[in-house]
Amino acid sequence: MKQVTIVGAGVMGRSIAYTAVQHGFLVIITDQSEQALTNAEQFIATEAEKALRRGKIVEDDVHRITQRVTYTVSLEEACKNADLVIEAVLEDIALKIKLFQQFDRLCKQDAILATNTSTMSPTEIAAQTERPEKCIAMHFFNPAHKMKLVEIIRGLDTSDETFEQVKQVAETLNKETVEVNEFPGFVTSRMNGLIGNEAMNLVMEGVASVEDVDKAMKFGLNHPMGPLELADLVGLDTRLRNMTYLYETLGETYRPCPLLVKYVKAGRLGRKSGRGFYTYDER
Ligand code: NAD
Repeated sequence: MKQVTIVGAGVMGRSIAYTAVQHGFLVIITDQSEQALTNAEQFIATEAEKALRRGKIVEDDVHRITQRVTYTVSLEEACKNADLVIEAVLEDIALKIKLFQQFDRLCKQDAILATNTSTMSPTEIAAQTERPEKCIAMHFFNPAHKMKLVEIIRGLDTSDETFEQVKQVAETLNKETVEVNEFPGFVTSRMNGLIGNEAMNLVMEGVASVEDVDKAMKFGLNHPMGPLELADLVGLDTRLRNMTYLYETLGETYRPCPLLVKYVKAGRLGRKSGRGFYTYDER
């Protein structure tokens, strides 16, 4: 495994790219949006500078990191030499399936195709390719270069070899892994979606303020972040897509909180738009 191609340069794609390049992989990152690629390039340069200032890497590493990532809008160019593709586009099953069909056509026969989906079925995505045994879900957490876990989810036809190779990549990235049998939301998104949704329901019902709900969870239940600040970090649009999928597949318990729906309609998407449950200063 030498070259990792990341498809989707948003919140997750750019931090997965940074992790991969930091740990010695050649990285190509592709997105349909030029702006997303520019933002990803800035993000990677900024993170490398921060790591240098903190003494975690040396000057040479900064050059190596910035030189070993290529940015392109061409999916064909991004796929042709990939050993592993990690897809990190929106949580939309039709889009993921369409892209996996393209990866299947454009990549080498032995390339592994992974999705960073938070909730969806790698089996359903893999079934539309000619290589279901080489498809898998590799669920990173936000931000991927700081969070320790990768959930690895086997589809029905994922081979043991693919699972082992992906596990090895995750370990090279210095991650802990858990093996999950496919089910909507896996372990983490299923649990976390409910906690976040209940926090939003509490605010909507006037039980406590945004700040106090988060404070209660941090100081009372020892969560490192409040569920509402976490939802803002994830992106409220992304969280709504996750909850909608869980609601459709697992039922009523997962119905997205109406306040979340309202915020997304208003364009309050969390940190990425400057306002969600909290307000953020762009600077
Ligand atoms: P995002 O909205 O920040 O980024 C998605 C990117 O995909 C955008 O830059 C967009 O331009 C790009 N894109 C859309 N269609 C494309 C196409 N056809 N070809 C190329 N690029 C395309 O989303 P995100 O938060 O990074 O989420 C990406 C995936 O990761 C989702 O499946 C999400 O569920 C999952 N995930 C998100 C988080 C999180 O905290 N945000 C955590 C774990 C997993």
